[in-house]
Amino acid sequence: MKNIAVFIDGKSGQISESSQRLLVLASNWLSKNNLDNMYVFGFEPVNSEQLKEYASVVQYTHIKIPDLANHSQVFGPLLADIQQKEISQFFYVKSLLMDTIASFIANKLSLPLIANVLKIESAGSAVQFTKSIFSGKATLTTEIKEDAFIGAFSKSFAIDFTNNTSNSSVSQSEITLGIDSQNKLIENHPLTGSIPLPDAAIVVGAGRGFKDPSNWGIVEDLAKEIGAATACSKPVSDLNWRPHHEHVGQTGVKIAPKLYIACGISGAIQHLAGVNGSRKIVVINNDPEAPFFKHADYGIVGDVFDVLPRLLNKLKSH
Ligand SMILES: Cc1cc2nc3c(=O)[nH]c(=O)nc-3n(C[C@H](O)[C@H](O)[C@H](O)COP(=O)(O)OP(=O)(O)OC[C@H]3O[C@@H](n4cnc5c(N)ncnc54)[C@H](O)[C@@H]3O)c2cc1C
Repeated sequence: MKNIAVFIDGKSGQISESSQRLLVLASNWLSKNNLDNMYVFGFEPVNSEQLKEYASVVQYTHIKIPDLANHSQVFGPLLADIQQKEISQFFYVKSLLMDTIASFIANKLSLPLIANVLKIESAGSAVQFTKSIFSGKATLTTEIKEDAFIGAFSKSFAIDFTNNTSNSSVSQSEITLGIDSQNKLIENHPLTGSIPLPDAAIVVGAGRGFKDPSNWGIVEDLAKEIGAATACSKPVSDLNWRPHHEHVGQTGVKIAPKLYIACGISGAIQHLAGVNGSRKIVVINNDPEAPFFKHADYGIVGDVFDVLPRLLNKLKSH
């Protein structure tokens, strides 16, 4: 039996865009390589009908995480479920939680974990992965001989084929991650903001051009108006003007939204490394020579304290 697991994410029961692509990719992989079943795991209840739009899925397992404010989590129950389902190949799109779970599974099942995957192909008895390296500046093709692996897909992976669905029903199951008395929660820092940055379709990023943390109101208002998450450059989080989970770039969160609006950010190479997967980039900067303009689809040369309120007013009037 050769089964695969696909870990998906989403919000309010809706499967995220990158997880939709991953389901289609994994479904194609399954049928091309004559593998048996696809099991899907996620952290939210998901409607079976929605899953069936993207892939032929045997079962969806809702992984329930105990309240982190009171407990620490352990992944033992998940491992037992995976072993019982005889899963040997795992697909997920990179996120902090999934990286933690994947390294646990890789360690327990002695599986190779291939990171930043853009493409997967079979090459005879081997599996070939195209990976993004050097913060997205180059790609590397690597091969593994094993047919058991964990593929951690970069958010910007692309697919060039259509859904591979079936009418068969998807069963639903649940597992709750266990509580281990040997673990204890030392600190809990809940993420702020209503839209998680790595999943956001629109991101408004702000840099040192804002001069002071008290000036972030306009950034938050704009983000709220257009349903965006807020991000910042590294110096801004180093100065504690904004929380560290908003820092994007080489040393921060990597994002690949449909639209990234960068305000008062110079466009240093280390910042670009985290945002160059964005489909469209709009740059607002008062220095026409700012390096970011070279990487922008649209640019506005102007003062953020002038441009942003006008942009917001215009959006509100429509
Ligand atoms: C090893 C290493 C790793 C790093 N990792 C990261 C990383 O992950 N992410 C990251 O962001 N940086 C990273 N950096 C830092 C990076 O090199 C830059 O220093 C940083 O991105 C600059 O941040 P900034 O653009 O906000 O600030 P600045 O470079 O100070 O630029 C501010 C910009 O705002 C503009 N501006 C000023 N006032 C206004 C105004 N009123 N209206 C409009 N525009 C205005 C200016 O013209 C300027 O372009 C790293 C550096 C190193 C050495």
